[in-house]
Amino acid sequence: MCSPPLTDGGARLERGLGIPESADPAETAGCRVGRVAPDFGDPPDCSAAVDGGCGWKGELVTGEILDVRGAAPGDGPSGPGTDAPGAGRIFSAGRVVTGLLVFGPVVALALFIPLGWAHLSIGDVVMATALYLITGFGIAAGYHRLFAHHSFKANRVLKVALAVSGSMALEGSVIGWVAVHRRHHVFGDLPGDPHSPVRADSGPGATMRGFVWAHVGWLFASDPTDPRRFAPDLQRDPDLVAVDRLFPVLAVASLALPFFLGWILSGTLAGAFAGFLWAGLVRMAVLHHVTWSINSVCHIWGRRPFDTTDRSTNVAGLAVVSFGESWHNFHHCAPASARHGVLPRQVDPAARLIRVFERAGWATKVRWPSPTQVAALASSGSLQDLADAAGDLDPELPELPARPIDA
Ligand SMILES: [Zn+2]
Ligand SMILES: [Zn+2]
Repeated sequence: MCSPPLTDGGARLERGLGIPESADPAETAGCRVGRVAPDFGDPPDCSAAVDGGCGWKGELVTGEILDVRGAAPGDGPSGPGTDAPGAGRIFSAGRVVTGLLVFGPVVALALFIPLGWAHLSIGDVVMATALYLITGFGIAAGYHRLFAHHSFKANRVLKVALAVSGSMALEGSVIGWVAVHRRHHVFGDLPGDPHSPVRADSGPGATMRGFVWAHVGWLFASDPTDPRRFAPDLQRDPDLVAVDRLFPVLAVASLALPFFLGWILSGTLAGAFAGFLWAGLVRMAVLHHVTWSINSVCHIWGRRPFDTTDRSTNVAGLAVVSFGESWHNFHHCAPASARHGVLPRQVDPAARLIRVFERAGWATKVRWPSPTQVAALASSGSLQDLADAAGDLDPELPELPARPIDA
């Protein structure tokens, strides 16, 4: 079963979001497929004949980690757009949990401050920072670059550690998160993309409605993504299946840990609640909004030095807090690259961490982009500038080896 071709590349830009003034026809003509194909080949033990599950190199998104045959919107009993049992109810369990995660930190701040349970201590700051780094790198280097895009291979201990730390960000279980994210790449701002800000409506406020939808609105939608289609490789990994099933436990642990550490450090219940608030809820909420900003801000505002078929952008202001994930335009152009900030002065903490893992021998087969590839992927309007820049690629990371993405 093959999906129909996704051919709405031009018309989609006219719906709602509109085209930035800086855009020209060359920039919106689509990703320069075929120039570089950071495709990592067919997954092991995965027959292309298996019911639509394993097409790894798509027609539209050559260069993406994968395309999934038969995964057109609403196609098939388990395809996107098919409601899960009970998903149509306004107060389904999933929506209640999502609502608690989205609005809980705000309510807790409003409650805890008047009760005097919100005193911020040095210990809370250290705990919040440490947990932000652990869970944020778990998402950026683990969930995203390792599991969703196979930008490198990790030994077993590192693989499990990244899956656990990503789970503690409370952004969903590893297999579910990866499935949704891969679907986002496959449909990239076309119908079927689970959280695109490009909406069917237009007129005043369309951009803001798209922003709200891409940021948090889609979390409440009844639009499940089938991991059998989008993450069959992860479902065959017993380690990841185990971590995936442990997600509820890890989620509770992520919030309970700062509570008990706050209790131990302060010796008071108020200190425990302060730890829970700042290093638990607030830390979680900040990372949530940073991640959601990649879905919303980085598909609306920002620069587009690389041609892609979607509306992905680079947003420098989010680079540090997002661990380099906000160099989202290059990421959509070469998704399997381990490095997203590829131009001079583009800070990419997750790429640096992956380099540390590589030097330690824990990560292998890292897909570092070469300057030639970066220049080749640049849009025609800025090709010369990028070719010049790529010749002096990211002087802040001179130690990074230049290994072809498609090696
Ligand atoms: Zn995106
Ligand atoms: Zn991605």
